[in-house]
Amino acid sequence: MIGRLFGSLSQKVPSLLYRVSQVMKPQVVFVLGGPGAGKGTQCSKIVESYKYTHLSAGDLLREERNREGSEFGQLIANYIKEGKIVPVEITINLLRKAMEETMQKDEKKFRFLIDGFPRNEDNLQGWNRVMDGKADVKFVLFFDCSNEVCINRCLERGKSSGRTDDNRESLEKRIQTYLQSTRPIIDLYEKQGKVCTIDASRSVDEVFADVKAILDKED
Ligand code: ADP
Ligand code: AMP
Repeated sequence: MIGRLFGSLSQKVPSLLYRVSQVMKPQVVFVLGGPGAGKGTQCSKIVESYKYTHLSAGDLLREERNREGSEFGQLIANYIKEGKIVPVEITINLLRKAMEETMQKDEKKFRFLIDGFPRNEDNLQGWNRVMDGKADVKFVLFFDCSNEVCINRCLERGKSSGRTDDNRESLEKRIQTYLQSTRPIIDLYEKQGKVCTIDASRSVDEVFADVKAILDKED
């Protein structure tokens, strides 16, 4: 009798765990900082050691811009070149779709690094409208770096990136957009005690040592 009970329980436990993981809400870390602060670089390193999926708003937008038949391709291209923030309806749909597809493929992949989002008030309101209650924002990783270092890194990246916005003219605009639109969003999360700030002007490994300390503590 006890043997049978034990047997049926041991069969149920894995299926219960399976169901719990299926209903896991996406756990999100927003990754913010100026253009060239090293967000993408650090996210790639995080993914190697931690169970996070990296979603870059900029990468998703570039992909959509290049997708044949995209109705938003030209609009996205113009916004990116001008360093302006693409309307949130487009960005949020790309992010939501990428999150859903990731979790559909593997239900254990519910931790996301969302890099380059929310970049302004419009982004934040869009997130709250579409994702409120559907995902938990754990904290914000803020890569803090002077404008000068950011610009120099992007100009260096521009020598091989082929990006239409890694040039001085676009960068001046991107920095302005960052200062005027993104910094206030970081300040807002700061007031909620949700920001982990990292001095991103140091070497990749030094920055990553701080990232690890934060993730090990938060996880
Ligand atoms: P972001 O995603 O914030 O725009 P990237 O991760 O693409 O920035 O980094 C921008 C450029 O700077 C890349 O060419 C990258 O190799 C370089 N880079 C990133 N982090 C550092 C660092 N800590 N020190 C020096 N160069 C860096
Ligand atoms: P990034 O790859 O993060 O440097 O972003 C490149 C460009 O993509 C930005 O300058 C914007 O034009 C656009 N972009 C990136 N993230 C967003 C976002 N969250 N909302 C709107 N536009 C974005």
